[in-house]
Amino acid sequence: KRIITTDITEEDQKNEGSLRPKLLSDYVGQEKAKGNLKIYIEAAKQRGDSLDHVLFYGPPGLGKTTLAGIIANEMGVHMKVTSGPAIEKPGEMAAILNNLQEGDILFVDEIHRLNRQVEEVLYPAMEDFAIDIMIGKGSSARSIRLDLPKFTLVGATTRAGLLTAPLRDRFGVIHHLEFYTVEELKTIILRSASLLDVEIDEAGALELAKRSRGTPRLANRLLKRVRDFAQVKYEGKIDQKVASFALDLLEVDTCGLDQVDRRLLLTLIEKFNGGPVGLDTLAAAIGEDSGTIEDVYEPYLIQNGFLNRTPRGRMATELAFHHLGIEA
Ligand code: ADP
Repeated sequence: KRIITTDITEEDQKNEGSLRPKLLSDYVGQEKAKGNLKIYIEAAKQRGDSLDHVLFYGPPGLGKTTLAGIIANEMGVHMKVTSGPAIEKPGEMAAILNNLQEGDILFVDEIHRLNRQVEEVLYPAMEDFAIDIMIGKGSSARSIRLDLPKFTLVGATTRAGLLTAPLRDRFGVIHHLEFYTVEELKTIILRSASLLDVEIDEAGALELAKRSRGTPRLANRLLKRVRDFAQVKYEGKIDQKVASFALDLLEVDTCGLDQVDRRLLLTLIEKFNGGPVGLDTLAAAIGEDSGTIEDVYEPYLIQNGFLNRTPRGRMATELAFHHLGIEA
């Protein structure tokens, strides 16, 4: 089973509730987003108003859902959670909106996957806090406007560019979530370890942090895997040696790359002489979906200097050759 997957595994869900930060002050990193949100939340609370609609975008596992929950907590309101693919008909969206209470947060994950008709229900809802409902049929059909409570829509997506312009324009606050630094991930790992009652030292946490691919969800996942390993073989204590040994077994390398990352780079180098090669060709060659490559694999590889996106296609960098032990 792959350890780097965008799916939320059963393992992720275990203790998810206790690991998820509940307040802005527990939320590690993303200083820019956090700083801005703090001000917006305070201002809205002072005015006794609801918060402007917020859009978070960035790769999976960086804390978008967590932030939405924190906003609800800090504002003292309820959060209703749904996702783009879960809502098929405009009527379902209308019902969800109609059931919200004043000030509530509606969190829509994968908001770019809402279908057009459902999305159109959101336009007047976000702008005027109203929905238009058609009643009657044929020549006697007419539309009536239903007022909604003032709510806050928090949307999450992997790329802001996937949203239609009319939807994107209706968000007052748009934040890009960044990959976490090794230091931030180490803090998250030490926090999770203490919540899970796992014994880990600084060097062990650092080793895990380095291999977590900039992603808190992965950091927690690796921590749980390595804990099991340490429990069975090393009396439960995670140090650098145990962490490194366990992660090697899980085929997560010292830069946090997994088999798919490596296969992508290796294919690029061996089959296409390092590129440039088009995204679709590359996707077909490694048998992955091009959208997943673009949203999940590439951002980390690009940010860490393994891959370049050029007008003519993807290219492996010198670092990629070096990392895989191939002469450029
Ligand atoms: P996304 O919605 O972006 O896919 P989540 O909000 O579900 O990501 O985050 C995945 C997990 O990572 C959460 O369960 C949480 O425990 C952890 N996490 C995310 N961001 C942070 C953070 N800033 N500090 C601590 N833990 C975090």
